[in-house]
Amino acid sequence: MVGWRDAAARRASARASSARERGVRPSLQHVEGGAIEAPHALDQRREHPFEVAQAGAAVHEDEAGAGGADDPAEPATPVAENAAEVSDLAAGAADLAEVSARSSVCRACPRLVSWREEVAAGKRRAFQTQPYWGRPVAGWGDEAPRILVVGLAPAAHGGNRTGRIFTGDRSGDWLFAAMHRVGLANQAASVHSGDGLLLTGTRVVATVRCAPPANKPTPAERDACAHWLDREVGLVLSSVRAVVALGSYAWEATFGTLRRNGVAVPRPRPRFGHGAEVTTGGVTVLGCFHPSQQNTFTGKLTEGMLESVFARAKEHAGLE
Ligand code: SF4
Repeated sequence: MVGWRDAAARRASARASSARERGVRPSLQHVEGGAIEAPHALDQRREHPFEVAQAGAAVHEDEAGAGGADDPAEPATPVAENAAEVSDLAAGAADLAEVSARSSVCRACPRLVSWREEVAAGKRRAFQTQPYWGRPVAGWGDEAPRILVVGLAPAAHGGNRTGRIFTGDRSGDWLFAAMHRVGLANQAASVHSGDGLLLTGTRVVATVRCAPPANKPTPAERDACAHWLDREVGLVLSSVRAVVALGSYAWEATFGTLRRNGVAVPRPRPRFGHGAEVTTGGVTVLGCFHPSQQNTFTGKLTEGMLESVFARAKEHAGLE
Protein backbone atom coordinates (compact mmCIF):
# COMPACT_ATOMS: atom_id res chain seq x y z
CA MET A 1 0.00 0.00 0.00
CA VAL A 2 1.28 3.43 -0.81
CA GLY A 3 0.09 6.18 1.50
CA TRP A 4 -0.43 9.84 0.77
CA ARG A 5 2.69 10.74 2.69
CA ASP A 6 4.88 8.92 0.18
CA ALA A 7 2.97 10.31 -2.74
CA ALA A 8 3.16 13.81 -1.33
CA ALA A 9 6.91 13.62 -1.05
CA ARG A 10 7.27 12.43 -4.62
CA ARG A 11 5.06 15.12 -6.01
CA ALA A 12 6.00 18.05 -3.86
CA SER A 13 7.93 19.98 -6.49
CA ALA A 14 5.34 19.20 -9.17
CA ARG A 15 2.61 20.70 -7.01
CA ALA A 16 4.52 23.88 -6.48
CA SER A 17 4.97 24.60 -10.16
CA SER A 18 1.45 23.41 -10.92
CA ALA A 19 -0.05 25.85 -8.44
CA ARG A 20 1.95 28.70 -9.85
CA GLU A 21 0.96 27.81 -13.40
CA ARG A 22 -2.71 27.79 -12.49
CA GLY A 23 -2.41 31.18 -10.90
CA VAL A 24 -3.85 29.99 -7.61
CA ARG A 25 -3.20 32.42 -4.82
CA PRO A 26 0.03 31.33 -3.20
CA SER A 27 0.55 30.39 0.36
CA LEU A 28 0.48 32.73 3.27
CA GLN A 29 3.46 34.48 4.76
CA HIS A 30 6.48 32.24 5.22
CA VAL A 31 9.13 32.16 7.87
CA GLU A 32 12.42 33.43 6.56
CA GLY A 33 15.20 32.49 8.90
CA GLY A 34 13.35 33.65 11.99
CA ALA A 35 12.92 31.77 15.23
CA ILE A 36 10.44 28.90 15.02
CA GLU A 37 7.88 28.64 17.76
CA ALA A 38 5.27 26.08 18.69
CA PRO A 39 2.93 25.05 15.86
CA HIS A 40 -0.19 26.68 17.21
CA ALA A 41 1.54 29.97 17.95
CA LEU A 42 2.83 30.20 14.42
CA ASP A 43 -0.50 29.29 12.90
CA GLN A 44 -2.26 31.99 14.86
CA ARG A 45 0.22 34.47 13.43
CA ARG A 46 -0.88 33.25 10.00
CA GLU A 47 2.32 31.53 9.08
CA HIS A 48 1.90 28.83 6.50
CA PRO A 49 0.94 25.53 8.18
CA PHE A 50 3.69 23.68 6.33
CA GLU A 51 6.35 25.80 8.01
CA VAL A 52 4.57 25.37 11.29
CA ALA A 53 4.59 21.60 11.08
CA GLN A 54 8.18 21.40 9.97
CA ALA A 55 9.14 23.40 13.01
CA GLY A 56 7.19 21.07 15.26
CA ALA A 57 8.72 17.99 13.66
CA ALA A 58 12.23 19.30 14.07
CA VAL A 59 11.76 19.79 17.75
CA HIS A 60 9.77 16.66 18.50
CA GLU A 61 10.78 14.18 15.85
CA ASP A 62 11.32 11.29 18.25
CA GLU A 63 8.08 11.67 20.14
CA ALA A 64 4.72 10.10 19.59
CA GLY A 65 2.22 12.52 18.21
CA ALA A 66 4.35 13.28 15.21
CA GLY A 67 2.59 16.47 14.25
CA GLY A 68 4.25 17.48 11.00
CA ALA A 69 6.64 14.54 10.72
CA ASP A 70 5.30 13.71 7.24
CA ASP A 71 3.61 16.85 6.12
CA PRO A 72 1.70 16.48 2.84
CA ALA A 73 1.95 20.23 2.20
CA GLU A 74 4.81 22.47 1.25
CA PRO A 75 5.31 26.23 1.35
CA ALA A 76 3.74 26.73 -2.08
CA THR A 77 0.58 24.77 -1.27
CA PRO A 78 -2.36 27.14 -1.78
CA VAL A 79 -4.50 27.92 1.24
CA ALA A 80 -8.30 28.09 1.07
CA GLU A 81 -9.73 30.93 3.15
CA ASN A 82 -13.43 30.36 2.44
CA ALA A 83 -15.83 27.79 1.02
CA ALA A 84 -15.56 29.11 -2.52
CA GLU A 85 -11.81 28.69 -2.43
CA VAL A 86 -12.20 25.19 -1.02
CA SER A 87 -14.45 24.40 -3.96
CA ASP A 88 -11.91 25.71 -6.47
CA LEU A 89 -8.87 24.11 -4.88
CA ALA A 90 -10.57 20.76 -4.33
CA ALA A 91 -11.86 20.63 -7.89
CA GLY A 92 -8.41 21.47 -9.21
CA ALA A 93 -6.56 18.90 -7.13
CA ALA A 94 -5.05 16.46 -9.58
CA ASP A 95 -4.69 13.50 -7.25
CA LEU A 96 -5.05 12.30 -3.68
CA ALA A 97 -1.71 13.75 -2.71
CA GLU A 98 -2.83 17.16 -3.82
CA VAL A 99 -6.16 16.83 -2.03
CA SER A 100 -4.27 15.88 1.12
CA ALA A 101 -1.81 18.73 0.78
CA ARG A 102 -4.36 21.41 0.03
CA SER A 103 -6.87 20.31 2.61
CA SER A 104 -4.16 20.05 5.28
CA VAL A 105 -3.56 23.81 5.17
CA CYS A 106 -7.21 24.84 4.76
CA ARG A 107 -8.48 27.79 6.83
CA ALA A 108 -11.96 28.16 5.39
CA CYS A 109 -13.95 27.77 8.61
CA PRO A 110 -12.94 30.46 11.13
CA ARG A 111 -14.61 28.78 14.10
CA LEU A 112 -12.90 25.46 13.46
CA VAL A 113 -9.53 27.04 12.74
CA SER A 114 -9.73 28.81 16.11
CA TRP A 115 -10.82 25.68 17.91
CA ARG A 116 -8.26 23.30 16.44
CA GLU A 117 -5.46 25.76 17.26
CA GLU A 118 -6.81 26.55 20.71
CA VAL A 119 -6.88 22.84 21.53
CA ALA A 120 -3.36 22.44 20.14
CA ALA A 121 -2.15 25.33 22.26
CA GLY A 122 -3.76 24.15 25.48
CA LYS A 123 -3.04 20.42 25.09
CA ARG A 124 -4.29 17.71 27.37
CA ARG A 125 -2.13 17.06 30.40
CA ALA A 126 -1.21 13.55 29.22
CA PHE A 127 0.17 14.97 25.97
CA GLN A 128 1.93 18.05 27.24
CA THR A 129 5.30 17.00 25.84
CA GLN A 130 3.95 16.17 22.39
CA PRO A 131 3.47 18.43 19.40
CA TYR A 132 -0.11 18.79 18.25
CA TRP A 133 -0.97 18.73 14.57
CA GLY A 134 -3.66 21.37 15.05
CA ARG A 135 -4.63 21.34 11.36
CA PRO A 136 -7.13 19.62 9.07
CA VAL A 137 -6.65 15.87 8.94
CA ALA A 138 -6.43 14.32 5.48
CA GLY A 139 -7.81 11.01 4.31
CA TRP A 140 -5.51 8.11 4.86
CA GLY A 141 -4.93 4.57 3.59
CA ASP A 142 -5.02 2.73 0.29
CA GLU A 143 -4.96 4.95 -2.79
CA ALA A 144 -7.22 2.57 -4.72
CA PRO A 145 -9.38 1.27 -1.88
CA ARG A 146 -12.14 -1.27 -2.18
CA ILE A 147 -13.49 -0.17 1.19
CA LEU A 148 -13.94 3.44 2.22
CA VAL A 149 -14.56 4.24 5.88
CA VAL A 150 -16.26 7.57 6.51
CA GLY A 151 -16.14 9.15 9.95
CA LEU A 152 -17.41 12.41 11.35
CA ALA A 153 -14.38 14.57 12.20
CA PRO A 154 -11.02 14.33 13.97
CA ALA A 155 -11.08 14.17 17.74
CA ALA A 156 -9.63 17.19 19.49
CA HIS A 157 -6.89 15.18 21.21
CA GLY A 158 -6.85 12.32 18.71
CA GLY A 159 -6.49 13.18 15.04
CA ASN A 160 -6.04 16.85 15.85
CA ARG A 161 -3.00 15.83 17.89
CA THR A 162 -1.50 13.06 15.81
CA GLY A 163 -2.38 14.29 12.33
CA ARG A 164 -3.89 10.94 11.31
CA ILE A 165 -7.59 10.25 11.38
CA PHE A 166 -8.83 7.98 14.22
CA THR A 167 -5.34 7.88 15.68
CA GLY A 168 -4.50 8.46 19.32
CA ASP A 169 -7.98 8.17 20.79
CA ARG A 170 -10.30 5.45 22.04
CA SER A 171 -12.52 5.53 18.97
CA GLY A 172 -9.49 4.69 16.87
CA ASP A 173 -8.51 1.94 19.29
CA TRP A 174 -11.86 0.31 18.71
CA LEU A 175 -11.95 0.93 15.00
CA PHE A 176 -8.53 -0.37 14.05
CA ALA A 177 -8.68 -3.27 16.48
CA ALA A 178 -11.85 -4.44 14.73
CA MET A 179 -10.27 -3.94 11.32
CA HIS A 180 -7.25 -5.89 12.47
CA ARG A 181 -9.42 -8.79 13.64
CA VAL A 182 -11.01 -9.11 10.21
CA GLY A 183 -7.73 -8.66 8.33
CA LEU A 184 -8.07 -5.08 7.10
CA ALA A 185 -5.21 -3.72 9.21
CA ASN A 186 -1.79 -5.13 9.96
CA GLN A 187 -2.00 -4.25 13.65
CA ALA A 188 -4.59 -3.30 16.22
CA ALA A 189 -2.79 -0.30 17.63
CA SER A 190 -3.22 3.18 16.25
CA VAL A 191 -1.06 5.40 18.41
CA HIS A 192 0.68 7.94 16.22
CA SER A 193 1.31 8.63 12.57
CA GLY A 194 4.56 6.68 12.49
CA ASP A 195 3.35 3.60 14.33
CA GLY A 196 3.54 1.24 11.34
CA LEU A 197 -0.19 0.77 10.90
CA LEU A 198 -1.11 -0.23 7.35
CA LEU A 199 -4.57 -0.80 5.96
CA THR A 200 -5.45 -3.43 3.39
CA GLY A 201 -7.64 -2.25 0.55
CA THR A 202 -9.15 0.38 2.82
CA ARG A 203 -9.09 4.15 3.13
CA VAL A 204 -10.41 6.27 5.99
CA VAL A 205 -11.68 9.79 5.60
CA ALA A 206 -13.53 12.31 7.76
CA THR A 207 -16.63 14.15 6.66
CA VAL A 208 -15.22 17.30 8.26
CA ARG A 209 -11.44 17.56 8.44
CA CYS A 210 -11.06 19.88 11.40
CA ALA A 211 -11.87 18.96 14.98
CA PRO A 212 -15.13 20.71 15.88
CA PRO A 213 -16.18 21.86 19.36
CA ALA A 214 -18.35 19.18 20.97
CA ASN A 215 -17.92 17.10 17.80
CA LYS A 216 -20.59 19.23 16.15
CA PRO A 217 -19.74 21.00 12.92
CA THR A 218 -22.25 23.56 11.69
CA PRO A 219 -24.07 22.94 8.41
CA ALA A 220 -21.93 25.61 6.77
CA GLU A 221 -18.74 23.92 7.96
CA ARG A 222 -19.98 20.56 6.76
CA ASP A 223 -20.85 22.00 3.38
CA ALA A 224 -17.51 23.76 3.00
CA CYS A 225 -15.57 20.62 3.81
CA ALA A 226 -17.75 18.51 1.54
CA HIS A 227 -15.73 19.85 -1.39
CA TRP A 228 -12.64 18.04 -0.08
CA LEU A 229 -14.69 14.91 0.56
CA ASP A 230 -16.25 15.03 -2.88
CA ARG A 231 -12.91 15.32 -4.63
CA GLU A 232 -11.34 12.56 -2.60
CA VAL A 233 -14.29 10.25 -3.14
CA GLY A 234 -14.31 11.10 -6.83
CA LEU A 235 -10.68 10.08 -7.12
CA VAL A 236 -11.18 6.67 -5.52
CA LEU A 237 -14.75 5.81 -6.48
CA SER A 238 -13.81 3.58 -9.40
CA SER A 239 -12.23 1.05 -7.05
CA VAL A 240 -14.62 1.35 -4.08
CA ARG A 241 -17.13 -1.45 -3.58
CA ALA A 242 -18.15 -0.83 0.03
CA VAL A 243 -18.46 2.24 2.23
CA VAL A 244 -18.68 1.92 6.00
CA ALA A 245 -20.44 4.99 7.38
CA LEU A 246 -19.65 5.47 11.05
CA GLY A 247 -22.76 7.06 12.48
CA SER A 248 -25.74 8.84 11.00
CA TYR A 249 -23.78 12.00 10.23
CA ALA A 250 -21.33 10.05 8.08
CA TRP A 251 -24.23 8.10 6.57
CA GLU A 252 -25.83 11.30 5.31
CA ALA A 253 -22.50 12.64 4.11
CA THR A 254 -21.77 9.41 2.27
CA PHE A 255 -24.98 9.50 0.26
CA GLY A 256 -24.47 13.19 -0.38
CA THR A 257 -21.01 12.75 -1.81
CA LEU A 258 -22.00 9.65 -3.78
CA ARG A 259 -24.84 11.63 -5.37
CA ARG A 260 -22.58 14.56 -6.20
CA ASN A 261 -20.13 12.10 -7.72
CA GLY A 262 -22.78 10.76 -10.06
CA VAL A 263 -24.02 7.70 -8.17
CA ALA A 264 -27.78 7.23 -8.19
CA VAL A 265 -28.99 7.51 -4.60
CA PRO A 266 -32.38 6.02 -3.67
CA ARG A 267 -35.24 8.36 -2.82
CA PRO A 268 -36.25 8.77 -0.14
CA ARG A 269 -32.73 8.48 1.17
CA PRO A 270 -32.28 5.24 3.16
CA ARG A 271 -32.40 5.60 6.92
CA PHE A 272 -29.32 5.01 8.98
CA GLY A 273 -29.13 2.02 11.24
CA HIS A 274 -26.40 -0.24 12.53
CA GLY A 275 -26.09 -3.09 10.06
CA ALA A 276 -28.10 -1.30 7.37
CA GLU A 277 -26.90 -2.05 3.86
CA VAL A 278 -27.79 -0.21 0.69
CA THR A 279 -26.33 -1.11 -2.69
CA THR A 280 -26.38 1.44 -5.48
CA GLY A 281 -24.17 2.02 -8.46
CA GLY A 282 -21.99 -0.95 -7.62
CA VAL A 283 -21.25 0.37 -4.12
CA THR A 284 -22.72 -1.01 -0.91
CA VAL A 285 -23.06 1.48 1.92
CA LEU A 286 -23.03 -0.12 5.36
CA GLY A 287 -24.26 1.68 8.45
CA CYS A 288 -22.31 1.25 11.67
CA PHE A 289 -22.68 2.94 15.03
CA HIS A 290 -19.79 5.31 15.57
CA PRO A 291 -17.17 3.84 17.92
CA SER A 292 -17.47 6.86 20.21
CA GLN A 293 -16.95 6.41 23.90
CA GLN A 294 -20.60 7.18 24.40
CA ASN A 295 -21.53 4.17 22.28
CA THR A 296 -18.81 1.78 23.45
CA PHE A 297 -19.07 2.59 27.18
CA THR A 298 -22.80 2.08 27.17
CA GLY A 299 -22.67 -1.15 25.21
CA LYS A 300 -24.67 0.30 22.33
CA LEU A 301 -21.76 -0.77 20.16
CA THR A 302 -19.83 -3.91 21.04
CA GLU A 303 -16.59 -5.22 19.59
CA GLY A 304 -18.52 -7.99 17.88
CA MET A 305 -20.97 -5.56 16.28
CA LEU A 306 -18.16 -3.46 14.89
CA GLU A 307 -16.26 -6.48 13.67
CA SER A 308 -19.29 -7.93 11.91
CA VAL A 309 -19.84 -4.75 9.88
CA PHE A 310 -16.26 -4.82 8.66
CA ALA A 311 -16.53 -8.50 7.88
CA ARG A 312 -19.58 -7.72 5.74
CA ALA A 313 -17.78 -4.82 4.07
CA LYS A 314 -14.93 -7.14 3.26
CA GLU A 315 -17.35 -9.58 1.64
CA HIS A 316 -18.95 -6.85 -0.44
CA ALA A 317 -15.53 -5.57 -1.45
CA GLY A 318 -14.35 -9.00 -2.52
CA LEU A 319 -11.35 -8.87 -0.24
CA GLU A 320 -10.00 -12.17 1.00
S1 SF4 B 1 -13.46 21.91 8.25
FE1 SF4 B 1 -12.76 21.50 6.15
S2 SF4 B 1 -13.33 23.32 4.97
FE2 SF4 B 1 -13.39 23.90 7.15
S3 SF4 B 1 -11.34 24.69 7.63
FE3 SF4 B 1 -11.29 22.52 8.10
S4 SF4 B 1 -10.54 21.52 6.23
FE4 SF4 B 1 -11.22 23.59 5.67
